[in-house]
Amino acid sequence: MSHDVIVIGAGPAGATAAALLAERGLDVLVLEKDEFPRFKIGESLLPAVQPVLARLGIESMPGTSVYKRGARFVCEATGRESVFAFSEALPGSPPSAWHVERAKFDTLLRDRARELGADVRHGQTVVDAVARTNRVEVQTREGKHEGRYLIDASGQSRLLARRAEAVSHYDQFGHSAAFTHFEGLSPAAFDELGPDFDIRIMMRAEGWGWIIPLPGHRLSVGMVSKGKITPQELDDGLLSGPLCQRLTAGATRLETRVAGNFSYRNTAPSGVRYATAGDAACFLDPVFSSGVTLALRSAMSVADLVGDALEADREDEADLLADHQREMDRAYATFAGLIERFYNSRFAETMFLGDNPDTAIKSGVMSVLAGDVWRTGNDFQDMLLRARRRERSVRA
Ligand SMILES: Cc1cc2nc3c(=O)[nH]c(=O)nc-3n(C[C@H](O)[C@H](O)[C@H](O)COP(=O)(O)OP(=O)(O)OC[C@H]3O[C@@H](n4cnc5c(N)ncnc54)[C@H](O)[C@@H]3O)c2cc1C
Repeated sequence: MSHDVIVIGAGPAGATAAALLAERGLDVLVLEKDEFPRFKIGESLLPAVQPVLARLGIESMPGTSVYKRGARFVCEATGRESVFAFSEALPGSPPSAWHVERAKFDTLLRDRARELGADVRHGQTVVDAVARTNRVEVQTREGKHEGRYLIDASGQSRLLARRAEAVSHYDQFGHSAAFTHFEGLSPAAFDELGPDFDIRIMMRAEGWGWIIPLPGHRLSVGMVSKGKITPQELDDGLLSGPLCQRLTAGATRLETRVAGNFSYRNTAPSGVRYATAGDAACFLDPVFSSGVTLALRSAMSVADLVGDALEADREDEADLLADHQREMDRAYATFAGLIERFYNSRFAETMFLGDNPDTAIKSGVMSVLAGDVWRTGNDFQDMLLRARRRERSVRA
C-alpha cells in the first residue's frame, strides 16, 4: 500500500506536520521509534508557537503548561539581572508563552495528529529512507513502506542529513548540556518564581544555565557549555549558586542527563519528494529557547506547501519548498546571529544585563526573543542579518 505522506518521528515537528496533512484527508503514516509518553528536554516555548497551536485546535494545556511572561537574564557573580517581557516586543506578537512538560506536550500533539486521521505507529525505527523521482521508500526494522512524499522529522537523529552527509556544525555555539529536574518544590520557591514564571537564563563564566518552572511544582535546571560538560560541573556550578540552592531546598532531585553534539545545520534540507522539519533541518544552541517553536513553525509551513502540492499532483516539483526554505533560512540566520553575539562579544553583557537598554532596540530584541522573526520592520533583526551576510562574505 502506498501512502500520501510518510513522516519519520512523532515529536513536535512530525506530529504537527502529520496533523495538518491528515486534516486535509490525506493518508499520513507516522513512524516513531519510541513509546509515548517519553522524557524529552526542551521545555520553554516562545509566543510564535501560538498560531501553530491555534491551527491544531490547542488553545490551552491544563496540567501540561505553565504561563511564561518572558526571559530574565541573571548574573549571580555581579548581582545584575534584567527582565525581557514578551509584551515589550514590537506590535504583532502574542504577549506571553508557556513552559511545558515535554512528555505530556508531545503526547498531546501526537494525540491531535491521530484525532485528525494520521496513522501514528510507535516502536517503528526507520533504518533507511530514500526519495526517488517517482516515489519514496522507507525501511524500518519491521518492514518497508512506500509513499508519494517523505518528511524527515527525526529530530537530532537527523536521518536524511546523516545519510546525505549534509550535517554542518556551528562550532562557535554550545556543544553539550547537563540537566536535571526537581519535584516537590516548596511554596516559597514557587512564589519566588511566580507570578511571571520567566525563564531564568543564568550568565556564568563557564557557560550559561537555565531555570525553568514546570507544572506540578517541578523545576528544570541545566547548563550548557562550549566544551564537553559533566554532571559534576552542573552540581559545582549552577546548582551551587544561591538561587538554585534557595529554589531547590527540600525538593527531590531526579536523574541527571547529558546531551551533546548539538548546534548544526542540514545543508540539504529539502529536495524532490522530501522535506525536513524541526531539528532534522537545523538545531541551534538552546539559549533562546527557539527549538520547539521553530520545529512547529517549520512543520506547519512544510505541511501547507506539501498538502497543496499533493492535492494538485505536483509533489515532485524540484522547487516546491524554495519559499519555505528562504523563510526558514531567515529565521535560522536571525537566531544564529543573536547566539553568536551572546557568546562572542560584550553584546550579551550590554544588551541583556545593561542598566538602560535603548527601548527601541529592546523591542526589536524582544521580537526576536518571541520568535517573531518572519516579520518586516524590525531594525534590530535587519542589523543581525546584514552583519551575518557581511561576516560570511568576508570569510568567503
Ligand atoms: C539541552 C537542550 C535544551 C533545550 N531547551 C529548549 C527549550 O527550552 N525550548 C525549546 O523550544 N527547545 C529546546 N530544545 C530543543 C528542542 O528540544 C527541540 O528543538 C525539539 O524537540 C525539536 O522537535 P522535533 O520534533 O524536531 O524533534 P524531537 O522532539 O527530537 O522528535 C523527533 C522524534 O523522532 C523520533 N525518531 C528519531 N529517529 C527515529 C528513527 N530512526 N525512526 C523513527 N523515529 C525516530 C524520536 O524518537 C523523536 O520522538 C533544547 C534542546 C536541548 C538539547
